[in-house]
Amino acid sequence: MNNTISENIKRIKAELPETVTLVCVSKTYPADQVLEAYECDHLDFGENKVQELVQKHEELPKNIRWHLIGHLQRNKVKYIAPFVHLIHAVDSIKLLKEINKQGEKNNRTIKCLLQIHIAKEETKFGFSAEEFKQLDFNEIAQLSNVEVCGVMGMATNTENTDQVRSEFKLLNSLFTFLKTVHQPNIHATTLSMGMSSDYPIAIEEGSTLVRVGSAIFGARNYL
Ligand SMILES: *Cc1c(COP(=O)(O)O)cnc(C)c1O
Repeated sequence: MNNTISENIKRIKAELPETVTLVCVSKTYPADQVLEAYECDHLDFGENKVQELVQKHEELPKNIRWHLIGHLQRNKVKYIAPFVHLIHAVDSIKLLKEINKQGEKNNRTIKCLLQIHIAKEETKFGFSAEEFKQLDFNEIAQLSNVEVCGVMGMATNTENTDQVRSEFKLLNSLFTFLKTVHQPNIHATTLSMGMSSDYPIAIEEGSTLVRVGSAIFGARNYL
């Protein structure tokens, strides 16, 4: 692939409707490549590991909006709480409570998405659709230092586009469900779905935020 990072970003941005946010997934790529993307007026970056996110936050311009897109352990919330822009993969109420506690300590409200398990694969984290619908949203409403902004999910890694599409449809229906929940700290504005291999389908199915890594930065050495 000979395209530069900036060419890739421009091409992908041109494909996205104006209402869809592009998060450049910079995991495993060095800071100088992130800077190259930043220099084409791009501010949203995603990492899946706390340590790498903290390190890049320290090295790179402070107006970058850092998205944590990977699984988060409760004992690591404190490291990102002072600055993280959006936590995508909240998969338990216990974790949400810890984020709330750290938000309080840092005197800020931390934006979160609830991760839903939509894929066939066992390995992916998140609430099941049933668990999600049965969450105690009144309990979540007590957590005034978090804001639940929507849902996030990953489709099965498959060539079967019908399956991917039906998983995205399910996620969108749960996003619509969340819109009917009225609480001061729950505002369903963000539907985080779509990666390099499936973002065009995700957009057709109503995504408002796509998380794209390898289509911008090139293939990674490991997942
Ligand atoms: C790595 C990752 C992505 C981006 O994957 P690409 O295939 O490189 O676009 C998106 N979402 C999550 C949760 C990831 O871990």
